[in-house]
Amino acid sequence: MLTGQLPISINPRKLAHAETRIAGSILVTDLPRFAEAIIDPEGEVALDLQFLQDEEGFYVVQGSLSVEVKLTCQRCLQVMHLPLSVTCSLAIVWHEEAAKAVPAHYDPVIVAETNVALTDLVEDELILALPIVARHEQTDCHFEGNFEASDQDGDNTESSTSSKENPFQVLASLKTDT
Ligand SMILES: [Zn+2]
Repeated sequence: MLTGQLPISINPRKLAHAETRIAGSILVTDLPRFAEAIIDPEGEVALDLQFLQDEEGFYVVQGSLSVEVKLTCQRCLQVMHLPLSVTCSLAIVWHEEAAKAVPAHYDPVIVAETNVALTDLVEDELILALPIVARHEQTDCHFEGNFEASDQDGDNTESSTSSKENPFQVLASLKTDT
């Protein structure tokens, strides 16, 4: 088991063959796209990942990620603290073709090289775990007005932001049009 200061570059095949478990933390600032999506990117993402090769030969990474982030509440526009906790089940592949064969219970991750940055494996998972529209619980919110009316506005924003391309949707469509 690898702990503490985590290696930046890993060889998923090697780790899977050795059934290595990696537990520790990575800096939020080492995840530039995730850091861009939150306020005051600071602190660490705690992770606990088990690498293994399943019966079908897929290189699998299973485990959890957790981090507390700050977002802007879209109702009162004040800071909200949100604990994110992600359970991931990834299958690592080296070609788009191979991604089509990945069973539905895994999220395929396509990597270009033998080695991959640990941060590249987990960054998309964290980004996808962020709410499309962040809002406090009503009891915590500083908004003074009609919550239902304001949430209606929020839903409009939601439809415009959800058109953002989701890499996993692209993969899902690859998997179905065989
Ligand atoms: Zn609020």
